[in-house]
Amino acid sequence: MERRRSSTRTLSQVLTLPEVEARLAGLETTASLAWWEMACDSSEATSAAAEAASAAMEHMLADPEVAAAAVPVAETALEQRRAEVLRLMTAGRQRPAELIDRVVALETELMGMHSTYRATYDGNELDAAAVDRVLMESTDLAEREQVWRSARGVGAAVDMSLRELVRLRNEGARALGHRDHYAMTLANDELDEQRLYGLFDALHLALEPAWTAERELIATERRAALGLAVDAPLMPWHLVDVFGQDPPSVGEDPLEAVIGEVDALGSAARYFADLGADVDGVIARSDVLPRPGKDQHAFMMHVDRAGDVRVLMNLVPTVRWLETTLHELGHAIYELELAADLPWLLRSPAHILTTEAIAMLHGRRGRDPEFLERYAGVDPAIARHPANAATLRRGLLILAAWVQVMTRFERALYADPDGDLDRVWWELVEQYQGIPRPAEPVPGAWASKIHLAVAPVYYHNYLLGEILASQLEEWTERVAGASSPAAAAAVVGPLIAEHVLAPGASLRWDQLVEQATGTPLTIDAFVRTVSA
Ligand SMILES: [Zn+2]
Repeated sequence: MERRRSSTRTLSQVLTLPEVEARLAGLETTASLAWWEMACDSSEATSAAAEAASAAMEHMLADPEVAAAAVPVAETALEQRRAEVLRLMTAGRQRPAELIDRVVALETELMGMHSTYRATYDGNELDAAAVDRVLMESTDLAEREQVWRSARGVGAAVDMSLRELVRLRNEGARALGHRDHYAMTLANDELDEQRLYGLFDALHLALEPAWTAERELIATERRAALGLAVDAPLMPWHLVDVFGQDPPSVGEDPLEAVIGEVDALGSAARYFADLGADVDGVIARSDVLPRPGKDQHAFMMHVDRAGDVRVLMNLVPTVRWLETTLHELGHAIYELELAADLPWLLRSPAHILTTEAIAMLHGRRGRDPEFLERYAGVDPAIARHPANAATLRRGLLILAAWVQVMTRFERALYADPDGDLDRVWWELVEQYQGIPRPAEPVPGAWASKIHLAVAPVYYHNYLLGEILASQLEEWTERVAGASSPAAAAAVVGPLIAEHVLAPGASLRWDQLVEQATGTPLTIDAFVRTVSA
């Protein structure tokens, strides 16, 4: 690989850690604002600006002189961690400039292909929401199958470019001595691959009986809803979403029937206020309602690591969007509660999995009787209806199976991007999700999940986050007598803020978990959550 010569520089020109940190802070804020603009209003100009800002950040992180600044400025634990975080940020990015540009260009191209692709049915184009509606509501089996096949058809369109992107990512990782990009990313994210797969293998075994029973129940309900024979196989297009990752409500769902009366933002703001976090400023800076030309998903962004926290959502009155509101504002309060005196490099969550855990912990309140009754004003009979707990539990079982597929598929993808990936994909879907592969193939269906292109080696964090969320619930139950923050907000809020949020990235994620909850991350609490 290429390196810029720096031997002619004098010592006085060597960048210090605080200097590098200040430069990164500026570039990150610029890039965040560019991404925000693009997400709120997608156009050629906003996309080009976002790509340029990302490339600028990548080039800086690839600069050997920036990487060389990862030296502690004092022998304290905090300063050592600060240098280590810079080392981890830069380690996987030492790549030739030309390779960076090819990777960023391919990522942008794939992002564009995903966002402009539309499924078609009967001569009409369907956006993501329209596809979801068909799978949620239609009882026309031919329509369901055709819409599902067409929605997965984006995979065939992106297949070759995505394989090329994976080969380029691998090229960069192998030049740095790693097996592939998958192994390198886990290592630089401080996740031990063997430990991760050990946890996931154990979880698969522990959940197998509950998941098998739940799958049977789902199949029975879906067959009845769609008028299928009692022994008909439940095919992918018989589920309620494109990937089989969302839970169908368990039986009748009285909460969904009254959700139009719930003020999602207002109830969430009252809840977080009782926990000790004022989210009014976040809401004021946010872009909350659906609008044409806007990103169709939801995310939280901390623009400047100095309090400019925002969320982008497409809020509509469904239980799913109430959960999403609580989830995204959960990410937001983590950012707000980071200790303000931490250096910039450490003023961020300890890990993706810890911020997902906090978001998921609060997202679960969308089905929590305590939250629904106290904060959302839902009638007690509906708040306490057993369908809420049953649907929450079903969603966790479905997520656990789905993340197993994505995690294992991604490892296989980077191990052999030229392999028979359709075969690998459907084998995993059958083994973990229990969904049979279609007799008539769907070429490139594996490539239709956008995360493979734009959020590589990330998906496992969603399941690790739920595992940690359960461990946090058991911890607050033990020390504060409440597993739900909504049941004792004034106690649980400050407890989580002090022990989990405030330290930011000053501790490794595994040290933080053990220090806060008293035990390392284990699957035990999660298994209890879904077995209850
Ligand atoms: Zn999240």
